[in-house]
Order: sequence, then C-alpha cells, then structure tokens
Amino acid sequence: MPDRKTRQVRHYDIVIIGGGLAGASLAVALADTQYRVAVIEAVEFDSKAQPSYDERTIALTYSAKHIFSRLNVWDEELETEACALKSIHISNKGHFGKTRLDHKDAGTEALGYVIPTRALGQALMRNLEHATNIDFFCPYEAEKIDTDDAGAVITIKNRETQAPEQLSAMLAVIADGGRSPILESLGFSSESKTYSQSALLSIVKSNLAHQNRAYERFVPNGPLALLPMNDQRFAVVWTLSPEELETVSAMPDEQFLTHLQMTFGTRAGLFSAPTPRKTYPLSKTSLKTPYSRRVLALGNAAHTVHPVAGQGFNLGLRDIATLAELLIQTSTSDSDIGSTEFLKNYADLRADDTRRVAQFTDGLLSIFNHSSPLVQLGRNLGLAAVENLPFIKRALLKRTMGMGPEQPRLARGLKISPPPSK
Ligand SMILES: Cc1cc2nc3c(=O)[nH]c(=O)nc-3n(C[C@H](O)[C@H](O)[C@H](O)COP(=O)(O)OP(=O)(O)OC[C@H]3O[C@@H](n4cnc5c(N)ncnc54)[C@H](O)[C@@H]3O)c2cc1C
Repeated sequence: MPDRKTRQVRHYDIVIIGGGLAGASLAVALADTQYRVAVIEAVEFDSKAQPSYDERTIALTYSAKHIFSRLNVWDEELETEACALKSIHISNKGHFGKTRLDHKDAGTEALGYVIPTRALGQALMRNLEHATNIDFFCPYEAEKIDTDDAGAVITIKNRETQAPEQLSAMLAVIADGGRSPILESLGFSSESKTYSQSALLSIVKSNLAHQNRAYERFVPNGPLALLPMNDQRFAVVWTLSPEELETVSAMPDEQFLTHLQMTFGTRAGLFSAPTPRKTYPLSKTSLKTPYSRRVLALGNAAHTVHPVAGQGFNLGLRDIATLAELLIQTSTSDSDIGSTEFLKNYADLRADDTRRVAQFTDGLLSIFNHSSPLVQLGRNLGLAAVENLPFIKRALLKRTMGMGPEQPRLARGLKISPPPSK
C-alpha cells in the first residue's frame, strides 16, 4: 500500500520517470496543459554518464519532424544541427541488388533528418525551462512505485544528498529506458531477443559532398549505415559480431579508417578524422502489456528494436504523440488517466504500429543476415523489385518516413484538437 502518512507528499497528475529522449518529449508535449507534471531524471544533462543525450546521432523520420515542429522543439537552433535526409541508397555488398529511396518519390522536401541526440536534448530542455506546469527533479532517482485505486506514490532519492522524497500522481509513466528495476518490481514481463551483435558508432569526414544521401550497405557480417551530417560528415552505425567489435574497437584510427573504407567501398568518398568509437549492445524487447493500473511504460522501457532501420525512437515518439493527444483530450473531463481502461485504450491504438515496426526491422535483419544462396537470391530480387515496382517502393517509403493516416495527429502535422468544453 502507498505510504502517504510518513512524510509530506507532493502531488502531481503525471510523474514521468526518466528525462531522456522519450520522457522529455512527453513532458514537452504536456507543457502548458492543465496537467501538473514532474519529471525525475537520474543523470544531469551535461554529464558524460548521461545515457540518452550522448554521442549518438539518430535518423528522425519525416513525421517525427512534424511532431517536434508542432511542439515548438524544432526551433532555429535545432534546424542548424539537423541534416536533411533526401535519399537512401540500399545495397548488398558483392551482389547485384540495390535500390534507392528518394524524397521526390514521396513528394516531400526530405525523407527524414539526421540529428545528434545532444542537440535534440538541448532543444527539449530549452522548452522545458519555460513550462510553468512542469517540475524537473535532477539528479533524482526513482526507487519504487506503489499503486492503489487512489493513485501512485513514487519514492525518489536525491542522488547528491541521498534524501528520499515521495511524490503522488494519478499516472506514473516509466521512461527509464528499461534501465532501472522498477518495471520488474511491478511485475511487468517482456519478450526479448538479444542479437549476437553490437553497434559501433563513430563520425567520419568524407572528401566528397554527401548530397544528403544515407547509405545502408549489407556487408557479410551485418548492416553498415552511413548517415549524412552537416560539414561533409557521416555518422557510421556498424553492426558487428562480438569478436569483430573487440577487434575494430581496439584498432588505431588509421587502421579503423582503412577497415571501414575496405568494407564499405569508395561510393561515399574517402573517409578521415574519425571520432572516438562507442559501442552499444543490441536487443529487441517488447513488454507483453505496456501498462498496469496507474503505470505506463514508454520509449525504450516499452520496446526496443535493432537500429538497422532507424526506427526505435521514432516509434516511441509516435507513442508519445498518441498519449499526449489522449491526455489533452481528457484534460477537462473527469476521466481517470491512470485507470486500466484509459491505458488499455492507448495501448490498443499503438499495438499495430509497434508490431509492424518490430516485424519490419527484424525481417530486414533476418533476410540480410542470412548466408543461404536461396535467401541471397531472394534478397537481390527483393531489392530489384523495390527498385522497379513503385507500389512496393511507396510502402517502404511510408514506413521509413513514419507516415500514414492511422498515425496520431501530431505525426501528420496537425494540432491536437482542444478538449471538448464541458
Ligand atoms: C546505436 C543506436 C542507434 C540508434 N539509432 C536510432 C535512429 O537512427 N533512429 C531512432 O529513431 N532511434 C535510434 N536508436 C534508438 C534510440 O536511441 C532510443 O530509442 C532512445 O534513446 C530511447 O530513449 P528513452 O528516453 O526511451 O531511453 P533512454 O535514452 O535510455 O533514456 C532513459 C533516461 O532515464 C533515466 N533513468 C533511468 N533510470 C532512472 C531512474 N530510476 N530514475 C530516474 N531516471 C532514470 C536515464 O538517466 C535516461 O536519461 C538508436 C539506438 C542505438 C543504440
């Protein structure tokens, strides 16, 4: 049972645990609404240990830009950090199949945008600073959540003073990236698949202008992606086996560049000036049910996918857009936003997109990671089919861009309609 008597408890409507990309995006979506919101973040933004706003450079879909523009996150400063993604060249090293997705086929000015997560984080923090209905607790760690019919009580600890505090809320949103044991302690169970591969990230310069083109090259050991960045740079996302990861991580810079060049080829130019390499273990996880009474998991806490198709955060952001829409629509009614009925409605709305993205990403990997000659032939024919059959290309474009009529209003570039007046 929640212990509300022992100390003074501060009350909020919504407490978000984790102020990373997902938690901060939800908080921004709820800025200046009728909800009182608290965000609990364990690690300060500019700390080297900050796990969400690190050296990562991610590809945002076209619909993600819609969402961030509508939320006023996509400001002039962020625009200068973003690199438009105008085409994607997909190829299979040593085989005939290849295809190109182009923004002109979609009739949009770009397919998506490549952005350093730190720059996105700064834009989110700029927004949160001005929100009068949001309290940001940092560096505070959420330790446990107790729930009952009346609400949730979240026990948090100041990481500097170690002093515990309690907050109560109608709804506790767990956006901790799956990093803390809270979900487990509440009995959430997940289905997971650990890939026997990790991702290695670095940024390199090229001697050729990239013309806003990304490359997804399926090399024998897994996918190797180059994402265009400003100043004639590419973010390298290289999927490697544990043995290769160890070898490639330990290489001196010159040797790393040579190995990368030999593996990728010279289509994107000659590489130089690599930044320090960083590695990430990869897994696919999905909570069987992302909610229980008064608690909802969001972002990586709810699901993770392999970065091969750059979909993980984009999917989480569409979850956030849907949740914000439902919450704002409900804000003037007496509905209980922590009830299982409310949370089930949200989860049902998001189930299809979540399943499709997981299947798409996993399917892509199993096709391209397969060494059987038949699968290899199918893969080459598949790429040729995408190249030559416009309707297949359109379907792939739609998924890559995160578009579709079933998506939340923000993702379609529309405002969340105001709640019906009583
Ligand atoms: C190599 C790689 C490349 C990727 N590329 C892309 C891409 O191109 N496109 C894309 O859409 N996605 C991509 N992703 C996925 C994307 O990075 C994640 O989906 C995103 O970072 C998830 O954000 P999150 O806020 O859910 O979790 P996290 O980023 O893990 O943030 C969780 C936050 O919660 C805090 N926290 C944890 N526990 C507690 C606690 N107990 N109390 C308080 N705070 C706590 C942490 O300090 C952290 O700030 C990539 C991922 C990887 C690994």
